[in-house]
Amino acid sequence: MNPRAETQTANKDLETTEIVRKARENASRMLRDAGYDIGNNVDAVIDPKLPFMGYTAPQRGGFKIVVSGGSVESGLLEGLLVHEMSHVYRIRTQHPSHNGTILQEAVGNLGKMRPYQEKILFDLLNDIQDLYADDISFQVIRKNKIMNDSQATDFLQSWVKDKPAKTDDVKKDNWTNASIMEHNARALAQMHRHGVKDVDNRAKLANQKFLASIPPKMAEHYPYFENLLTNLRQDLTEDNYGTLLADVLKHFLEAANINRLK
Ligand SMILES: [Zn+2]
Repeated sequence: MNPRAETQTANKDLETTEIVRKARENASRMLRDAGYDIGNNVDAVIDPKLPFMGYTAPQRGGFKIVVSGGSVESGLLEGLLVHEMSHVYRIRTQHPSHNGTILQEAVGNLGKMRPYQEKILFDLLNDIQDLYADDISFQVIRKNKIMNDSQATDFLQSWVKDKPAKTDDVKKDNWTNASIMEHNARALAQMHRHGVKDVDNRAKLANQKFLASIPPKMAEHYPYFENLLTNLRQDLTEDNYGTLLADVLKHFLEAANINRLK
């Protein structure tokens, strides 16, 4: 790179760091104002190559939130940080949904899984954690007008997929499609939980199209997921959370393993 281009890159990096720092401050202030104190030990850093929006990891008695380059450009950075910080709040206050041991045990109890299966199961458990985190973040995001009603509608509608996976690997497709079905249920559940309007029924219709294109034996499990995720219990304890997860995973395996010989 020539010296001029190098200076430009360095300036751009500084700018981005400053954007992330400001967004971090705003997000933690909004949460504090809403009654959710996340403490002082929460860093936010950018990973330009991260292929998804962001994540939170523990770090020396506190937390590090890593956000993608894409999230900075998307205009959703503050909303993302509020979401990640809501996870931090749930962890700090020891909400059972964020107890990693319970999650590991619930999946461990199922026996040996292929790596792709394990990933799908942890994604499912992460959806549940997200719903508990978003009970905090959605309220804060709306109160501070980070998203207006139509942006919230677009955002959640865009999560619903209408096309199933179709490859030569039927077993893997079944797992992928059960996973899509559950993610669709999560998007619709989140709309119900927060009164986000499904304008023109776009989410509902996309999901109906999806359900019509997967095996009926799988699709019949859909109502369980939408109902469970819409009505996740608020009186969560470590015990009843373990029971809840065992039940969710049992239903998921039934949906994903429709071709297994009994
Ligand atoms: Zn999350």
